[in-house]
Amino acid sequence: MDLPLSRRVQEIAASPTLAITAKAREMKQAGIDVIGLGAGEPDFNTPQNIIDAAVDSMNKGFTKYTATTGIPELKQAIIDKLKQDQFLTYKPSQIFVGTGAKHVLYCAFQTILNPGDEVIIPVPYWVTYPEQIKLAGGVPIFVETGFDADFKMTAVDFEQAITPKTRAIVLNSPNNPTGMTYTKEELRAIGEVAKKHGVYIVSDEIYEKLYYGDKSDLVSIASLSDALYELTIVINGVSKAYAMTGWRIGYAAAAEPIIAGMGKLADHMTSNPTANAQYGAVAAYTGDQAIPESMYQAFQDRMERFYPILESIPGFKPKKPSGAFYFFIDVEEAAKQKGFATVDAFAKSLLDDAFVAVVPGSGFGMPNYIRISYATDPALFEQALDRMKDFMKN
Ligand code: PMP
Ligand code: GLU
Repeated sequence: MDLPLSRRVQEIAASPTLAITAKAREMKQAGIDVIGLGAGEPDFNTPQNIIDAAVDSMNKGFTKYTATTGIPELKQAIIDKLKQDQFLTYKPSQIFVGTGAKHVLYCAFQTILNPGDEVIIPVPYWVTYPEQIKLAGGVPIFVETGFDADFKMTAVDFEQAITPKTRAIVLNSPNNPTGMTYTKEELRAIGEVAKKHGVYIVSDEIYEKLYYGDKSDLVSIASLSDALYELTIVINGVSKAYAMTGWRIGYAAAAEPIIAGMGKLADHMTSNPTANAQYGAVAAYTGDQAIPESMYQAFQDRMERFYPILESIPGFKPKKPSGAFYFFIDVEEAAKQKGFATVDAFAKSLLDDAFVAVVPGSGFGMPNYIRISYATDPALFEQALDRMKDFMKN
């Protein structure tokens, strides 16, 4: 029977990052020795002080509804973090804590978009942005970049894509899937265009802590001027920085009317994010940073170690990342060498025949690429590289 479903649901695609992760998990459960490089999820466990804080909160009876947009302690911890790391000043009424940065982004798009509003997205992009924009009635407008441009959109490209319907731009730096990071000067130029045309900036900074360059170069576009502060919705969370993907805590910092709008939505959608997870997040932001710092160091060490190996695989053309925990690799040549018409087919064969799960670039808007995550046990990652090398030899 063909059960009727909403047009809204029929018009969006399932998440390819989550699909590949689920497929690898299924294969593993069936006894197949598959190595999953799909999920962008730290392989470290959540630091113990965070777990203890969450357990302690439950023992103390903090097991009830909280304020929809988050407990005051967590908002304060986020405000202090934004001040210390990014020189940004916010009031509690400018902070929205949600059920993961994904939910926060969803609420943001629902709050700023009307049907037909255009949102500019540089390609490649994280799989979820276009679908969330469509769910808000918006129209994603893609701006192509390329390997030689470090996959970064210039201010000129941005301005050319602006129409009277443009409402927002999505920036994600350090970037998923490329690992590229915009410099202060690049952000300033993009910001000038946003200001000139009155365009909101959704600045997804979830990989902020995973930046491998000089930390003083890393800035939030919101910090560059008062006008950009007003226009920017900063998005961040604990998933990647504190190995807390399952806890589902993310936040937005923005102008009061935007945060109030997002709060009304969450009132009718989720209510508050899980209470004990919020207490855990307080410990993440206010506790000792030595363990999280050691995770960032480990990711950088892996990147430095594995990048040259990847480069040496025939037909693989990776770009050296400056942040996050992904390699984004042009494998058009590799797919051709193996006789595949598409990289999607190549990636399928990598999974079926070499037992390595990678995410095809098509989901990120660049179908000649694959993304692999080195937020993976390094011994397994190395084994996966060997499998890919052998796959290319045979
Ligand atoms: N933004 C980007 C760019 C991401 O890669 C992710 C990964 N899940 C998220 C947002 C959402 O993170 P979460 O919902 O786990 O906070
Ligand atoms: N953001 C991560 C990724 O890109 C986790 C999966 C998801 O939520 O898309 O792999």
